[in-house]
Amino acid sequence: MTYKITSKCISCDLCLTVCPTGAIKVINGERWIDPNLCTNCVGSIHTVAQCAAGCPTCDGCVKEPLNYWDGWFDSYKKSIDKLTKKDNYWERWFNRYSKNYSQELKKKVVG
Ligand code: SF4
Ligand code: SF4
Repeated sequence: MTYKITSKCISCDLCLTVCPTGAIKVINGERWIDPNLCTNCVGSIHTVAQCAAGCPTCDGCVKEPLNYWDGWFDSYKKSIDKLTKKDNYWERWFNRYSKNYSQELKKKVVG
């Protein structure tokens, strides 16, 4: 899975200067990430994708989904985060659920 530049890009060219592999190019005035050069910044000194981290727009530079369902779930997650005005709604929900479940399980085992 590599990163890609979307229609939200405002052509600031910041990502071109920070990409450690030179994967981002300007072709016919459009910014484009060469999937053969993009390493997701893995193996570089960076711990996060530099293009996405520095992009001044929210969605100018995003991770390309592995498949249809990856993309679908990403969009769904973003909508839920927006609607609930909370980041990582499902992670929070799952953490709360598993905590409560463990407590219930403990009560049953002990009690
Ligand atoms: S940093 Fe974001 S807005 Fe700037 S050129 Fe790259 S993708 Fe476009
Ligand atoms: S994820 Fe890293 S290697 Fe890939 S395009 Fe962005 S900055 Fe370059």
